[in-house]
Amino acid sequence: MTRGGFEGLDACVHCGFCLQACPTFLATGDESDSPRGRIELMRALERGELSETDTALVYHLDRCLGCRGCEPVCPSGVQYGHGLEAARARITAARGASVLTRLALWALTTAGVSSGVYWLARLLRATGLPRLFAGWGRLRFAMGMLSATGAVKRFGGSAVRNRRMRTAQPPNRQTAQLFRGCVMQGLFSHVHDATIRTLAVNGYQTVEVSGQVCCGALHAHAGLVDEARALARTNVAAFGDGDEPIVVNSAGCGALMKEYGHLLGDERAARFSARVRDVTELLAGDGGRGPVAGAPLDLHVAYDPPCHLLHAQRIAAQPLKLFAAIPLLELVSVQGAADCCGSAGLFTLLEPEMSRAVLKTKLEYLREAAPQVVATGNPGCLMQLGAGLAAAGIRAEVRHPVELLDDAYRAAGRYE
Ligand code: SF4
Ligand code: SF4
Repeated sequence: MTRGGFEGLDACVHCGFCLQACPTFLATGDESDSPRGRIELMRALERGELSETDTALVYHLDRCLGCRGCEPVCPSGVQYGHGLEAARARITAARGASVLTRLALWALTTAGVSSGVYWLARLLRATGLPRLFAGWGRLRFAMGMLSATGAVKRFGGSAVRNRRMRTAQPPNRQTAQLFRGCVMQGLFSHVHDATIRTLAVNGYQTVEVSGQVCCGALHAHAGLVDEARALARTNVAAFGDGDEPIVVNSAGCGALMKEYGHLLGDERAARFSARVRDVTELLAGDGGRGPVAGAPLDLHVAYDPPCHLLHAQRIAAQPLKLFAAIPLLELVSVQGAADCCGSAGLFTLLEPEMSRAVLKTKLEYLREAAPQVVATGNPGCLMQLGAGLAAAGIRAEVRHPVELLDDAYRAAGRYE
């Protein structure tokens, strides 16, 4: 009999190897803010020893980032993410989603509403005020997040100087369907543009898919599993039953879309999930040969792998291939790079205190490393890190990795 995801917790042997990989445990030192402590709470919920409204249970599960940093370090293969999803679904069914959660989901993901919200946000961003007012405090941090969504100056020399590097486009063009998402489409359309261009250089023609909707990740993380399933069903139908890859440039979206088979429990959804690829997977190529090389960019870059890419999708090497395709670009090593930045979907909005505590640790390490660019492949991380860097007065830009490759291709004259 299926237990809705709780069975993924059975393997826990209480060894504690996961504790030092858990950003919330590192921030508080409280066992109940650790994976091991939360697993005990979730098991007690399943056994009926704790109710869905138990104060300690709700408090400590609400404070979990859902970053899944505890999964790859677990020697027993505990599926923490599935257990958390199951527990949150029960808690949300009992107490309902908070007003703030509902409002955020309505504004950011509802077709017909979100387009107006993003239009206003882009208007505000264009005034330059968010950049001026970025700082700590809820409103100023939100300003910093919005400011971080803008396309920043391009790096690289002129196309003319680098024209000798131009090479022929690959002859065998494959097709990839582009997932646009809600936040990515509303605030990061320049990353979609860079995705389309860089894939074209590497032999992929990107096609648009009508009828697609939000992936449902924010709903799933909030315990609104039925709403996440409804969105997943719409996307499965919209993308059809072809066999071309579905390319995603948001790690959080990609992580859930690769789990549609588990979420919907049917074969069509499983086939859809098997087609989902992060953009770095496609660019790195099946043999891991890496993308076509670009022009040199003399940059120091800190790569901050999104949790939903590194831990949930287990994609570590492919983004590095993008950087390796840019001569002169130097990757700066940063302590704690694999730890969550504290964004975690709506977490930064719902649990600002814990979110900032986790972020500040990361910012300390980034200040020491002093990169010019912090690269990360998820909209929430781009916004969280951008706002944090601005608030902390650290002069570094945030960019999606494909934007850097795009700059290198432009500098090489590939788009003339
Ligand atoms: S989740 Fe894994 S690493 Fe953590 S205590 Fe349980 S068995 Fe050990
Ligand atoms: S998902 Fe992240 S925050 Fe939650 S217990 Fe695991 S490591 Fe800690």
